[in-house]
Amino acid sequence: MALRQDPNYYVEVAGGGIYPIKTWCFFAEIVDDSLSQMPEFFNRCEVRDITGETASVLFGLEGGPMAFRDLTSGATLFVRYASKCYFSDLATQVLKVEDLSMVKVVQAPLDLLLSLSQYYWDRSRCAACRRPLAAATATQWCARCGAAAYCGAECRARHAPDHGGHCHLCFELSAVLSIDFDRYVEPVPFR
Ligand SMILES: [Zn+2]
Ligand SMILES: [Zn+2]
Repeated sequence: MALRQDPNYYVEVAGGGIYPIKTWCFFAEIVDDSLSQMPEFFNRCEVRDITGETASVLFGLEGGPMAFRDLTSGATLFVRYASKCYFSDLATQVLKVEDLSMVKVVQAPLDLLLSLSQYYWDRSRCAACRRPLAAATATQWCARCGAAAYCGAECRARHAPDHGGHCHLCFELSAVLSIDFDRYVEPVPFR
């Protein structure tokens, strides 16, 4: 999560404006969804991020369409351009999401998504036999998710039963990861 004063994420421009200089995405697993279906509590949910830190996430109610029923414990929440703010008690830091098009929920635990991203986004190796994918060889890709890379049609076919159970999650991860994180031009919504 970025703080608006953080020079790693924002730059101050003449006239006092603050602009992002890179693209980022906060991600964390939902660990408490007891208030997530209650608009009077801003569909609040509690999340735990990769460092083990917990945070409260609140959603603006005017921010566009969103399926709040997806906010369930055990799912992973992604929020592009997330920034912290202080809750009304001025002591608790929360993540308030105003633009709901920047939110994506994937119905899988964070650990699983991390292991899939490490496995399949290592584009230097065949996802089946783990041999290095030489630049010149005819790399084959899973046509459904576009994430799994293979050294040839044989490996792709052999790995299909293993990959099949995770292909839809790889497809969801592709939507999260197919963005240039090193620069910022304009906000890119998930949909
Ligand atoms: Zn292979
Ligand atoms: Zn696939």
